[in-house]
Amino acid sequence: MFFLVKPKNRYLEIFAEGRSEGIITFPTYVPGSYVIRDLERHIVEIDGERLTKNKFRVKKRFRYLIYTASKDQREAISTNDYLFINPPAVFPFMDVYEEYCVKIDTQWRIMTSLRRVEDPQRGEVYCADNYHEFADSPIEASPFLREIQIDETHSISTIDDIDVEMLKKIVEEADKIIQPPKDRKYIFHFRRSDKNFGGIEHRYSSAIVVNWSRKDLATLFAHEYFHRLNVKELVPKDLKHNYENEVYTDLLWFAEGFTDYMALLITLRAKLIKPEEGLKTVLSALHDLTFPGAKRTSLAEASRIAWIKLYKRDENFLNSSVSYYEGGLALAFYLDSKLIRHGRRIDDVFSSLRNIKEYTFEDLDKIAKSLGFHELDLAYKPSYEIFKAIKDDLGIEVTDEGKPYYGLIIEGNTVKFIEDGSPADIAGLMPEDQIVAVDGVNRSLEVRDSVTLEIIREGRLKMIKLTAGKSPGHSLKVKIEGEIAEKVFGKSSVEGKYNTNVI
Ligand SMILES: [Zn+2]
Repeated sequence: MFFLVKPKNRYLEIFAEGRSEGIITFPTYVPGSYVIRDLERHIVEIDGERLTKNKFRVKKRFRYLIYTASKDQREAISTNDYLFINPPAVFPFMDVYEEYCVKIDTQWRIMTSLRRVEDPQRGEVYCADNYHEFADSPIEASPFLREIQIDETHSISTIDDIDVEMLKKIVEEADKIIQPPKDRKYIFHFRRSDKNFGGIEHRYSSAIVVNWSRKDLATLFAHEYFHRLNVKELVPKDLKHNYENEVYTDLLWFAEGFTDYMALLITLRAKLIKPEEGLKTVLSALHDLTFPGAKRTSLAEASRIAWIKLYKRDENFLNSSVSYYEGGLALAFYLDSKLIRHGRRIDDVFSSLRNIKEYTFEDLDKIAKSLGFHELDLAYKPSYEIFKAIKDDLGIEVTDEGKPYYGLIIEGNTVKFIEDGSPADIAGLMPEDQIVAVDGVNRSLEVRDSVTLEIIREGRLKMIKLTAGKSPGHSLKVKIEGEIAEKVFGKSSVEGKYNTNVI
């Protein structure tokens, strides 16, 4: 298929041409992001007969107009001086396994990892051999777009400023593990925005959009870049992309959580973060495993239900599920710290996995065992077990265990979270309750034996008596010494603590 794209303010007008007339399908989700986005809802005009929400019968040539004003790196935006397209958000497919080419009707600079072709009739077009490759190659254009070279094969495509030295160090450190093909170019699409979004990985590029206040970009870039190996080259066997339906895998804790841990290692090795900051990331992940959700959910289950839990995270998440990012990072850290004692590293897991490429849990478990780690089945146990294993292994102190607590998180005077079975739960507090007085006075809530709260719920004033109970323990403290401290954090002794925001 061929697409001629005419960028307009907030819209793209697209003239498409297929090999013949037939049925086109707009993807309902963006691979790599586990939620049905239904971006086909942005089509406002199309020459064709509508069959379903995302399918149309069209002639060989057809035109459509699509609304594109999203600041999300997984979607598309068109303004009078900037264009970013994540292809599945904009382009349909007819036959996945035919060539897809696009021409952007602009004089602006264009950056994409698609193959540039000089077509005798159409001029400069960008092509991929099939829709999978096409969908995995974002396109960015602007009169202000700059290509900043990191080295011969890596560059940054941006309209903003970026610390190139930081990225150079990440690429150097990561490539020792990734070992990418020497001749293939890779682009970091980077943009500042007013929203705190994040990144999405592609095989030969990544797209990162973050808010202006975010300074700590090293681990985010390292995470997206490491996906070049983990997810783009090494893929869970059951993660077969289907552009219309949910795809289930038990292994997102490895695809995402292990990537998070590798990003942490890469930034530590590149000395872009301090050992103490690295330890704090580990403790923060472990903190999340101390809640009821971690006692109820394994990482495998959390992966499988990403579609309805993590991507639809609500105020009860810490009671109902667990993040396969945080849990996966913790499990990767545990595996690495055990392997270090056998003279191996987590890096060896990835080099062994290269021989398999499309892997199952059994493959991962076999590799882990062959290197000396026999507990990977923790991924199928309630993820609190991972916390317990690491706590016992490294002597982590739970500093608030048994101390007086209410079991809630408050932001300003609004209740944001209530831990199941906690005093706040028993007292009858609800998320979004506004605390207007504590013992008759307008002041912030501190833990004491017993208090009377005046709260507003749905506009009604209520009195609630809250009595402190014993905390199950969420605040953590640890001192790590010797080989693990040295090899993971790059220091002979590293200390850290993580204080919970649950009171
Ligand atoms: Zn990721």
